[in-house]
Amino acid sequence: MNRTVAIVGRPNVGKSRLFNRLARKRISIVHDQPGITRDVISAEVEDGHYTLLDTGGLGYKGEDTPARLTAASEAQVDFAMATAALILFVVDGLSGVSALDEKIAAMLRRSRKKVRLVVNKADFDDEKIQLDDIYRLGLGEPLRVSAEHGRGEADLRDAILAELGPAPGDDSDEAEAERPLGVCFIGRPNVGKSSLSNRLLQSDRLIVSDVPGTTRDAIELPFQFKGRNGKLYPFRLIDTAGIKAATKLASPVEYFSRLRSLDAIKNTDVVFLVLDAMEGVTQQDKAIAGEAIKEKKPIVIVVNKWDLVHKEFRKGDGVRGYKTEREYREKYEAALFDRLFFTPGAPVVFVSAMSGYEVDRMLNAAVKLNRMLDAKLPTAKLNRTIERLADQNPPPAIGGKRFRVYYATQTGTRPFRIKLFCNREEKLTEQYRRYLEAGLVEEFGLNGCPMYFDLVGKE
Ligand code: GDP
Repeated sequence: MNRTVAIVGRPNVGKSRLFNRLARKRISIVHDQPGITRDVISAEVEDGHYTLLDTGGLGYKGEDTPARLTAASEAQVDFAMATAALILFVVDGLSGVSALDEKIAAMLRRSRKKVRLVVNKADFDDEKIQLDDIYRLGLGEPLRVSAEHGRGEADLRDAILAELGPAPGDDSDEAEAERPLGVCFIGRPNVGKSSLSNRLLQSDRLIVSDVPGTTRDAIELPFQFKGRNGKLYPFRLIDTAGIKAATKLASPVEYFSRLRSLDAIKNTDVVFLVLDAMEGVTQQDKAIAGEAIKEKKPIVIVVNKWDLVHKEFRKGDGVRGYKTEREYREKYEAALFDRLFFTPGAPVVFVSAMSGYEVDRMLNAAVKLNRMLDAKLPTAKLNRTIERLADQNPPPAIGGKRFRVYYATQTGTRPFRIKLFCNREEKLTEQYRRYLEAGLVEEFGLNGCPMYFDLVGKE
């Protein structure tokens, strides 16, 4: 749900003052630096109850001619209308209503947004304020405040909260925790998907073996897993049973299209990508991983048949020139991240379906990823992080223009969706997208969770 409040108004009416007062902050506002998100400043207010935006820096390029100021104000109002659930329109009680105020009011009246009119600089007696003009803006009862001295602050805070309504209750988290965690195994034939499924379900009922044409619909099989803390976690295994028989006949291409038609990946929370420990990463593994990555699903990389590796090392000759299991494991992992484009920090587990080795770790990794998927990314920190990332590594200039983010806000979870208001969406290169994703994943401690960016270009 959108809980964003934007402050708009022509220059010098006291927007930043009001912002700082509500946010209880002293933020120095630097308009003239070519930084990334300084155009729009945001803060979490009332313990994260809503996000407050000051759009006052948006649209300033070059000198402050009257035409430019008008254009900038219009850009700010446009932006606020696109992002906010509630708009605070600030006018100056001392200098009175101007033509530009009337213009902004007209834009706001046409929008379907909730708008509260705020008369600032009401420090003195109300007689000084031309209330008639203010009512004539057609935006209802004005709230009189003094951002400078604090007058009317409590009423304004109450009014904002009343307009936004109650925040989503905390008890929804409880229900969420009980929702069974959906997982599926994907991978080449014979890597051990069925064997792993059977181990989880502790039965052989999945083996549909070699009967061609066995059911190809995705089925959900419930099971429970006792975590390290002794807590029982409900899971649902979305099974691709029936695939196995089909793959013996079908080409890899057909195999993937079947896999996809099963919607197994779409219905899961976390995907287990199974690889064979005795074989390196193949082209086919890459194609299969691509399916999960495309769906923006978090992946646990499961290297199966570790018992075979273990056995080889026990014989004493080493495996493929590696002397120790640990060395082999490290090289395998390095090769993985070299060959496949995974979400940064995707967990890797080395397991054996046959012996059950580290199967618990595999499930724990899924539980951990699943928990991260509901994280809320506070807007102010999100913007600060993007700004820092851009400072550290500016986007490449393409055709003389650099990609530039004005403002970022989280719009969804599972996957994380982040709306990026930017200059031009086509200027974001895949490489830079990955850089931003990696930076955010690191900053918010969301290892292995993919991020999806929705780009909204303004130019
Ligand atoms: P799927 O095609 O990915 O479902 O693979 P299966 O589960 O049918 O396994 C393919 C073959 O690998 C079977 O012969 C399994 O017995 C064997 N296999 C699966 N997992 C393991 C394991 O962890 N260790 C060993 N040694 N063999 C395994």
